[in-house]
Amino acid sequence: MAERKVRVRFAPSPTGALHIGGVRTALYNYLFARQHGGELIFRIEDTDSNRFVPGAEEYILEAFEWLGIKFDEGVSFGGNYGPYRQSERRDIYKTYVNQLLEADKAYIAFDTPEELAAKREEIKNFQYDARTRMQMRNSLTMAKEEVDKLIEDGEQYVVRFKINPGEEVRVDDMIRGEVRVKTDILDDKVLYKSADELPTYHLANIVDDHLMEVSHVIRGEEWLPSAPLHVLLYRAFDWEESMPRFAHLPLLLKPEGKGKLSKRDGDRLGFPVFPLQWKDPKTGEISSGYRESGYFPEAVVNFLALLGWNPGTEQELFTLDELVAAFDITRCSKAGAKFDYQKGMWFNHEYVLKKSDEEIAKLFAPIVANNGVDASLTEVTQVVHLMKDRVSFVTELWDLCSFFFMPPTGYDEKTVKKRWKEYSGQQMQELSQVLADIEDFSIEGQEPVVMKWVEDKGYKLGDIMNAFRLALVGIGKGPGMFDITAFLGKDETLRRLHKAIEVLG
Ligand code: GLU
Repeated sequence: MAERKVRVRFAPSPTGALHIGGVRTALYNYLFARQHGGELIFRIEDTDSNRFVPGAEEYILEAFEWLGIKFDEGVSFGGNYGPYRQSERRDIYKTYVNQLLEADKAYIAFDTPEELAAKREEIKNFQYDARTRMQMRNSLTMAKEEVDKLIEDGEQYVVRFKINPGEEVRVDDMIRGEVRVKTDILDDKVLYKSADELPTYHLANIVDDHLMEVSHVIRGEEWLPSAPLHVLLYRAFDWEESMPRFAHLPLLLKPEGKGKLSKRDGDRLGFPVFPLQWKDPKTGEISSGYRESGYFPEAVVNFLALLGWNPGTEQELFTLDELVAAFDITRCSKAGAKFDYQKGMWFNHEYVLKKSDEEIAKLFAPIVANNGVDASLTEVTQVVHLMKDRVSFVTELWDLCSFFFMPPTGYDEKTVKKRWKEYSGQQMQELSQVLADIEDFSIEGQEPVVMKWVEDKGYKLGDIMNAFRLALVGIGKGPGMFDITAFLGKDETLRRLHKAIEVLG
């Protein structure tokens, strides 16, 4: 049999911000499509009008734009299988619902919510299925004329899938292997609601996957329980030939403890669970995003790729293209993946290092300017070069680097106590004279001269350098002293030394 063209889809429901687990699902679909020369479809599953949230679709598109995950067709991308928004496909679904009704594979049910609630009271663990359906108000228990009359009178109804008991459904999952389920445990799922003239998720999802020629369904583990029903729907339509292969991805788990990752974990431990910041249009509540928290999209992609999949080697840093080459859906784990957000920070740090000093400087320069400093890009680049290995985020640079651009406003008390000895003022006075006589103020120009002076005088190098650092930086930490002085230049170095002597005595 000829290999089928790979066509996969990411099919979110626009019910709010896209959860980071959804981003991973889309990423795996993207990697799978790319490595097989296939196509990735962006479909909006908005058949549940009650849960529709304005702005969600735009948010999702913006998130993928930022992450560099590109779709080949779908909502806002065009293509030959549209429309790609389910709310625009009502007529299509109606046709297929009727097809099932005519074939006696589905039936119309009029039970009101009150009647269903009463049944649940009456029968323990009530399930609408082969055992109970004949006690209910539906087209199986009512005369055709009666059914037609009710519909004509505008009575609301649903269409239910008629599941035959005593059968077995096999779901062939690329990650989980074969999953077998007995049809007896399944209920007669609602496929269509007259109230909003829309199908439910299950029907729309299957019809669209079929019509859009989807070859593989890669989605989160939370959809695994629906898979047997989906297989039965394919059977009912006689589409088994073209049934996609399934891959249910492992859950993302809490960083600590048990259970699946939730927004609450992010709030509690201080990490985002959304790609971009999200403002809830109803409550106005703002949730943080990876973008706004200073993450690089490449770092987020790299981090997510390894949550539930591993290449089987030690390699951890991957570009998107490298991921396309290395990714293997069958190597995804069945067990949930702990959401190690600190690892996410580590990835960002690695990408700070990976990027050139110039690139980081361009991101850091506006922050420097915002702090009222007029520095050239060359100067900012020099500072970045010295300091970038100490941060995970560009936003952390200013606090560590401000002393390059501004003299200290004070001297850290503890460091003064420890590092500024009674003879430090005198030594710094001498040092300032040594420095003043140096013509070539580069690192190479200063270092040997200062070292020789320390040695000739028999001073302790630690005493000198610690006091020197305190005078220039204001605290006890920082890069090499001559890196700092070479950057500051002679005038500024001497100015800061004299100020410290004046203040600290
Ligand atoms: N609309 C579903 C969701 O929100 C799609 C599930 C699937 O991929 O079948 O995730």
